[in-house]
Amino acid sequence: MSTDTKKEKATKFFPKPGQMALMPDISGNTINGLGETEKRRASPIYWHDPAMLAHGKVQKWFYTQNPDDPHIAKARTERQRYINAEVPPKSGEPVQRSAEDWTAALLTHASGLDLDLIGVAEIDPKWVFEGYEVRKKFVVMIGIAHDYDEISHLPSGRGGAEVVRQYARGTKVAKELAGWFRQQGHDATPHGGPLAGPMLLIPAALACGFGELGKHGSIINEKFGSSFRLACVFTDVPLVPTAAPSIGVDDFCANCQICSNACPPDAILPEKNWVRGEKRWYVDFDSCLPYFNENFGCGICIAVCPFSRPDIGPKLVEKLARRRARKNRV
Ligand code: SF4
Ligand code: SF4
Repeated sequence: MSTDTKKEKATKFFPKPGQMALMPDISGNTINGLGETEKRRASPIYWHDPAMLAHGKVQKWFYTQNPDDPHIAKARTERQRYINAEVPPKSGEPVQRSAEDWTAALLTHASGLDLDLIGVAEIDPKWVFEGYEVRKKFVVMIGIAHDYDEISHLPSGRGGAEVVRQYARGTKVAKELAGWFRQQGHDATPHGGPLAGPMLLIPAALACGFGELGKHGSIINEKFGSSFRLACVFTDVPLVPTAAPSIGVDDFCANCQICSNACPPDAILPEKNWVRGEKRWYVDFDSCLPYFNENFGCGICIAVCPFSRPDIGPKLVEKLARRRARKNRV
């Protein structure tokens, strides 16, 4: 796609005036800390209680769009079942194991659950949103893969419903896993999206080895690309954090523009920027949000990323690994 096409496409999206009238005076990029070189915790910006957010009215507006779409309505009804499901209470004498044995038992148990990725990270207080607290030491991260054929229909009701379904699966699995800890006498708190919990999940998922941050602001995993969602369980049960090997995504993104060219409002910034004390890829919140809200949660950038394509992603990762090995030999 040429740069001209990109410009032409970017000028074609005009957000609905009704939505724009609800936008706050403050830029979402300011709330996110774009351009800030000092480290600080993230401020809640979206998917929290709308009453506490500058963008709360716009968040509520999102749910007024396409409420009767049959795909979305069915997926939301199913999701509500998992949101309503109880987690078993803590019971019995707390089982005592070493961190290594707990981690091995966790991974064995997880292999029988309906999840696609699992990892452990020790919680960094910097991941916790301003105004929130996490009084647990570890987070068990859960990755739930999309059906790529379904998300390739994004943005549409069919593609959006696939996102809802996989968030529902994440909620279900997080509750099952929290129940497993509780039935061994230990406290555990599940969290499933899309609503945000007390902590940013992407940094935790990066730390536990799910992948690397792509230019489109989502994680790229070696098997699923960006075609997955996150859920988690907070616990104090002693665990061993999982490793986070590099798969070379960063270099690839530096020379790829597939997502930025495909993004209708041209929201994906071409260079890394300072964001709360870290130089990293960043998506312009103010540009992405109106399109996202009017188009079933968009997700075009995730669907077009070559790493997300089942037939291409794993081969690309292999190719990058071979390239790195050659470089290391020189
Ligand atoms: S979600 Fe859509 S609008 Fe937002 S960055 Fe991705 S492609 Fe662009
Ligand atoms: S489409 Fe290309 S630039 Fe965008 S995240 Fe994927 S690999 Fe990186």
